[in-house]
Amino acid sequence: MNLSALFTAYNQAKWYAKRTGEFDVGNVDRALGLLMAHRLDEKRGEYAFGFRHCDCPDAQIRKRTCKHSIALMVQKRHDEIVEEIRRGE
Ligand SMILES: [Zn+2]
Repeated sequence: MNLSALFTAYNQAKWYAKRTGEFDVGNVDRALGLLMAHRLDEKRGEYAFGFRHCDCPDAQIRKRTCKHSIALMVQKRHDEIVEEIRRGE
């Protein structure tokens, strides 16, 4: 995990959450916490999750994009940023 890329991805997700209201801003923070603690993979033992679906209570009961799905998005953006740096963009 490249921390600089991770924080850039996190800030972009937070900006998007604030601007669109599509995600709970607190869940973006919780997603960062999962990624920083390297705990996303261990959550796969508890819940089945993807970019748009999760079977955790937050997604199922509160009907919102949960921290697990947001963490996947932030991780994907992190990987894209790392690749952009590698290519010198
Ligand atoms: Zn979830």
